[in-house]
Amino acid sequence: MTARALSTLVLLAGCGATPPPLEPVAAPTASEDVAVYVKSAMDTTADPCVDFYQYACGAWIANTPLPADKPAFARSFSVMADENEKLVHDMMEKSAADAKAGTGDPDWQRMGHAYGACMDEAAIEAVGIKPLDARFATIAAYKKSADLPALLGAMQSDFNPVVFDFGVEVDLKNPETQVLTLNQAGMGLPQRGYYLDEDPRSVGIREAYVAHVEAMLVLSGVAQADAAASAKAIMAFETELAKIAWAPADLHDPQKVYNPMSFADLKTVAPKFDWDAWLKATGITVTPKSVVVAVPDYVKGAIDLASNLDAKTLQAYVRWHTMHNNANLLTNAIGEQEFSFYGKAMSGQAARPDRWKRCVRSTTSWLPEIVGKYYVEAKFSGDSKPIALGMIKAIEDEFVANLKELEWMDAATATRAVEKMSLITNKIGYPDKWRDYSALTLGTSHLENGMAWRSWEIKRHLAKIDQAPDRGEWFMPASMVNAYYNPTMNEIAFPAGILQPPFFGADRPSALNFGGIGMVVGHEITHGFDDDGRKFDGKGVMTDWWAPEVVGKFEESAQCVEDLYNGYPMLDGLHVDGELTLGENIADLGGLKQAYRAWKKAHGSEPQAIEGLTNDQLYFLGFAQGWCQVQSPEYSAMLLQVDPHSPAKWRVNGAVSQVAEFAEVFSCDAGKPLNPPERCEVW
Ligand SMILES: [Zn+2]
Repeated sequence: MTARALSTLVLLAGCGATPPPLEPVAAPTASEDVAVYVKSAMDTTADPCVDFYQYACGAWIANTPLPADKPAFARSFSVMADENEKLVHDMMEKSAADAKAGTGDPDWQRMGHAYGACMDEAAIEAVGIKPLDARFATIAAYKKSADLPALLGAMQSDFNPVVFDFGVEVDLKNPETQVLTLNQAGMGLPQRGYYLDEDPRSVGIREAYVAHVEAMLVLSGVAQADAAASAKAIMAFETELAKIAWAPADLHDPQKVYNPMSFADLKTVAPKFDWDAWLKATGITVTPKSVVVAVPDYVKGAIDLASNLDAKTLQAYVRWHTMHNNANLLTNAIGEQEFSFYGKAMSGQAARPDRWKRCVRSTTSWLPEIVGKYYVEAKFSGDSKPIALGMIKAIEDEFVANLKELEWMDAATATRAVEKMSLITNKIGYPDKWRDYSALTLGTSHLENGMAWRSWEIKRHLAKIDQAPDRGEWFMPASMVNAYYNPTMNEIAFPAGILQPPFFGADRPSALNFGGIGMVVGHEITHGFDDDGRKFDGKGVMTDWWAPEVVGKFEESAQCVEDLYNGYPMLDGLHVDGELTLGENIADLGGLKQAYRAWKKAHGSEPQAIEGLTNDQLYFLGFAQGWCQVQSPEYSAMLLQVDPHSPAKWRVNGAVSQVAEFAEVFSCDAGKPLNPPERCEVW
C-alpha cells in the first residue's frame, strides 16, 4: 500500500526522527529563557541580508554534532520528537508490564504486547525467519508467467509492493467515494535516478545495493553463489523498471496520475495478466466499480518485464523484497545488514537506533490511534485549541485580504478562492473518534505481530473500496510533530505533537508563536492553492474553477518560484529541484507572508519582548529557527531526489527573500541577496 498524496509540513519519514546522545532540552517558555534560547542559536557575525539561515542558526549548527543514530537533527522537530518519544516510551514500558500481568484495558494491553514482543530480543532470535516459511513457499510455487497475478496479489496485500502496488484512495473527481488505485512501485532504491544517473554517488549506491541484496538473500537461506548471481539479475530487472518509471515530480501531479477506468478496461492495459486472479489473491472481495491507474505505461510495462523474467530471478526478486519488507522485525544480524545499506550507505547514519527507540516507532506505526489516545491523555490539555483556531481565522482573513493585492488574480476567480477557503475543515490536536482496534488480534512474536497487524490493516483499507470516506479520519498520529493539508477533503490538520514550544506556547511572545505555528498554519492553508492544491475546489473535487487567463498568470508566477529554487546549490554539483519542491515552496512563501501580516494586525503594537531584537525581527527569527538543522551529506543528497520540501537553508533564505517586509525589518540594502530587485509573488 502506498502512502496518500498529502501535503505535509516536513517529510514523513518511515521511522520518524530519533534522540541524540546530547540531552535534548525542550524549548523554554519563561521570557528570559526564551531570550537565551533565541540568541544562543544565532551567528551575529553573519549578514542577515546575505544568509539569514546562518544568522539565525549558525551558532547552533556549529555547536551541534549530528547524533550517531540519526541522518538529520533539527533544533525544533527533532527535539520535540525526542521529548514525545521519551514520554511514549515510558507509557509503553508500563503497558508492557501490565500486558504481561493481564491488567489494563484491551488497547493498553495491545500496545504493551506489541512493544513488549519487540523488546524481547531472545524471542526474536529464537523465532528467526520461521514465520516467513509460508511466504517463501508461495514464492517457490511460482513457475511461469500465468502464476504472476496470484503471486503479486498475495505479496502486495501483505504491504510488499513488488512490480507495482495498489492502494485505496479518495476519488479525485468524486471525493464522495474511494477507489482502488494502482501505483508505481517495486524498486528497492528510492527513485529511478538512483538506477540511471551517472552521479558517482548513485554509482556507489548501486554497487552497495547489489552487495546488500546478495547478503540478505544469504541470510534468508539462499546459497552464496546463487545469491550473488541473483542479486545482479535483480539489479538488472529493477533497472528496467526504473527506465519506464516516472520521476517524483510527475507522480506528484494529480492530473497526470488520474487515469480512471472500469475494472473490465484494466484488462486492456495488460491483456495477458489475469486481473480476476490478481483481485482474488489480494483479498478484494468485490468487483471494483472503477480503478485509477496512476501510471498506466508503468503498470503495463512492469507486468511485461516480470512476465518475461525467468522464474528463478523472479522468485529471488520477490524473496529479497520479502526480506526487506520484514527486516526490522527479524534477527539482529538481518536488522544490522538492512541498516548497513539503508541507514549507513544511503543516509549517512553512523549507528542503528537503540532497540527501545525502534520498538516505540514500530508500535506507533502499527497502533497510531492507541498511542495517540494515551499520549493526548498525558500531554495535551486542549488549552491550545481555541488559540490555534483564532490564529487560523486571522491568517485566513489575511489570505482573503491579500487576494485583492495580487496583480495576476481576477475578481471572479478570487471570489471562488474565498469560497474554497471558507470550506476548509480544521483538525486540531486529535481525532474526535479514535480508531477501533478490537478486531486486531496480535500474534506471539514480534514478527507475527507485524504480520497480524498488516493483515488487519489491509482489511481496513480494502473495506473502503467504493465506499464514502470517513471525514473524521486522521492521516497522522496525534503524537507526531508535523502537519498536513489534504486536498480531497479540503482540510488542514495539526496534531497535538506540534502544538508545543518552540512552535507554540500560550505564554511565549506572540511574534514567536506566529513565526512558529502561525507560519505553519499559513503554509498548510496555502497548500490548498499551490500548483497541485489549486486544482481542487472547496469540496475536494479535482476541477477547473479558474478563469483560463488567470491560470496562465498563475503558472507564470509559479515558474518564477521554480526557477528561483532551481538556482539554489546543494553539496558539490547538485542543486534544489525547483519542480519537485514547487508546491512546498509556494506554501512557504504564502505562509510566511500571511502569518506576518496577521501578527502585525493583531499584535504589532506589543512592547518589545526580547532585548536587542524588535518583535518584527523576532517573528522572522522564530520562523527561521524552526528549521535549524544538521544532516549528513548522504542524506542531503537523497532528499534532493525524493523530498518535495527544499533543504532547510533554502526554505529559510528562499522564503524571506520573497517577502518584502523582511528586507525592511532587517534594513537590507537594495540588491543584497535577500533583498532582490524582483520578487516572485504567487500568494
Ligand atoms: Zn507542506
